[in-house]
Amino acid sequence: MAEQLTPEKIKAIRREIAEMREEHVGCRHEGCEWGRFLAYIEALEQELAQAQKEKGLFQFGDFTLHSGQRTDWKIDCDALTDSDIETLAKIISQRFRFSRVEGVSTGGLRLAKALENYCSLRERLLIVDDVLTTGGSMEKQRAGREATGVVIFERGDCPAWVTALFQASEVLE
Ligand SMILES: [Zn+2]
Repeated sequence: MAEQLTPEKIKAIRREIAEMREEHVGCRHEGCEWGRFLAYIEALEQELAQAQKEKGLFQFGDFTLHSGQRTDWKIDCDALTDSDIETLAKIISQRFRFSRVEGVSTGGLRLAKALENYCSLRERLLIVDDVLTTGGSMEKQRAGREATGVVIFERGDCPAWVTALFQASEVLE
């Protein structure tokens, strides 16, 4: 997209669409197709929203993970709602004390933002991510510093400094 869509711009576009709707849906302008067109677009938007909502947290298919590994299932943390993220932040804050929090980009950023509300005075760096497979991204973010790591899901093996809230290990024992 050529232009940055700021919240103001989105609001302006929505207002413009609403005005067009008001003017043309059910209008009697001669030969006007705008009403039909706007209704059609609205139906498409609803269909898209529904499809996005139905995309699950866990999905079967043919996927390539960030680590480059192939897999037939994935955890899509974009499916977590803001309320899910808030709840996970609360759970983490009950188990860990930290003064600063960093999220691994991009999956850990939403969680890190939610965790900022729980920073306490104890000097401790918390690093978070959504899914850990090899631990490579977590190590890179830590860059040798002393830190506590927390991920929502692990599907590989966590290094000793990282705790996973939920495990779905693919490593066969
Ligand atoms: Zn019209």
